[in-house]
Amino acid sequence: MRILVIEDERKVASFIKRGLEEERYIVETAADGEEGLMLARNNVFDAIVLDVMLPKLDGYSVLQRLRDDGNSVPVLMLTARSSTEDRVQGLDLGADDYLAKPFHFEELAARLRSILRRSTTEKTTKLQCGDLTLDLVTHFAYRAEREIELTTKEYALLEYLMRNKDRILSRSMIMQHVWKHNFDPESNIIDVYIKRIRQKIEKAGQGQMIHSIRGVGYRIREGGVVDHEQDEVES
Ligand code: CA
Repeated sequence: MRILVIEDERKVASFIKRGLEEERYIVETAADGEEGLMLARNNVFDAIVLDVMLPKLDGYSVLQRLRDDGNSVPVLMLTARSSTEDRVQGLDLGADDYLAKPFHFEELAARLRSILRRSTTEKTTKLQCGDLTLDLVTHFAYRAEREIELTTKEYALLEYLMRNKDRILSRSMIMQHVWKHNFDPESNIIDVYIKRIRQKIEKAGQGQMIHSIRGVGYRIREGGVVDHEQDEVES
């Protein structure tokens, strides 16, 4: 794991570097925002420890520029300030976590492990359910070898189902998550989209994947298992 530490206080920087190296991380340091941004842009790091108060370019600006580049490297911000606003600003700009100075090294190490863990899980580029694969990069689905093109909403809905494989999702949860608004019991939009997705992913001879749970919602699971709760046919 390669970590970049952007911190202008030499004592703090070397304290972090030494501690992380003892935990077998490979550590590079930068002493100002410009140097840090340059290093972050030209190298691949698993995480960045980023101080807020930095010469040349402050930590918020470094973070903002990285995120504007589309760089999603996990960032742990170090702040000397205790105001909630400053912390919120960092999180709003896309920091993964923050730590107020002064801190114990053990806490920094624990926060770092946590954001690294989170980013490793999220780096999965494919979701799988039986022989159905959803590519999170290209947004294509594959059933066995067959490529399936999805519209934006179909994709969002299928992704939500697949991230919650085997779990029953209520119509209200689906509405809030995929359409970002509250569920209107009069609307059949979810059912319409489920039907379209089914037509695409459940071709003749291929088992049913999306199961409707009467009166509740939907669940995706690997086919072949008789699900007594499911409706036989989506009308
Ligand atoms: Ca500083």
